[in-house]
Amino acid sequence: MQTIIARSLPSLKKNLNNLKKNQKVGLVPTMGCIHDGHLALVKKCKKSKYFTIVTIFVNPAQFNNQKDLEKYPSQEKKDLEMLKQYNVDLIFIPKARQMYPAGYSTYIKEITFSDVLCGKHRKNHFSGVLTIVLKLFLIVQPYAAFFGEKDFQQLFLIKKMVKDLNIGVKIIGIPTVRDSYGLALSSRNKLLKGRDLEIAKKIYLNFKKIRYLNYKHIKDIELYLKKELKNSGLNNLEYLEVRDSNSLNKPKHIRNGKKLRVFIAVYVGGVRLIDNYKLN
Ligand code: AMP
Repeated sequence: MQTIIARSLPSLKKNLNNLKKNQKVGLVPTMGCIHDGHLALVKKCKKSKYFTIVTIFVNPAQFNNQKDLEKYPSQEKKDLEMLKQYNVDLIFIPKARQMYPAGYSTYIKEITFSDVLCGKHRKNHFSGVLTIVLKLFLIVQPYAAFFGEKDFQQLFLIKKMVKDLNIGVKIIGIPTVRDSYGLALSSRNKLLKGRDLEIAKKIYLNFKKIRYLNYKHIKDIELYLKKELKNSGLNNLEYLEVRDSNSLNKPKHIRNGKKLRVFIAVYVGGVRLIDNYKLN
């Protein structure tokens, strides 16, 4: 089947109305600049035989910094080719003014976990994320939606929103796809130049070291990692924190049964990279 490209809400609606009764829809929201991380979500969606919709929308509401929004990479032609190769059923590429018409003023706000980690440093970021995701859910009414663990806090907050607001969409999380050095694939990696790419690869190499260490206190892991990262040239940390994977809370001690994960945001050559790594 040919991939449908919808660039407006009426065009999307028309195509959704044409779907067969009982055809389940799977949604894969992206900001474009498609890479193998996005394609892992697409593959998972296609495997479930859902009518697969990929959205490409660089959501202005989730950028707290206008410059960051302006320099966000885009490659629409290549994206369309890649997604067509994966037999995506429909690609939705709306304009910002369609999603946020003049006078737009309604936003979702989660009040407990949106101001930690990335949220602490990117004011209103998660409000922008949750708003666009909820809008896409309401417009598309998917059966399931696919998100990457690469953005673990985002996945956590989307699951929370779906539970809190009784939204009937199945949320499926996909493990982070990495390159052969372990660098988490990200559209922003395209902005890394020369030596910076080499430095970025050290994030994962340092994460892996923790497996071989025995610590009692979370603080000690954090201190150790910060030192190692600095020695690797990663000296512009925004945050580095170990948290509970299930609750996103910050435990003091390492106790049996707690699922721990380290979270990082770091600037490399002016490019903000995030990653997270399961410790046990
Ligand atoms: P983005 O285009 O960066 O907003 O990402 C769109 C979706 O792809 C989000 O659910 C991300 O978590 C997911 N994603 C991005 N990079 C990766 C990756 N390396 N591995 C798995 N999922 C990813």
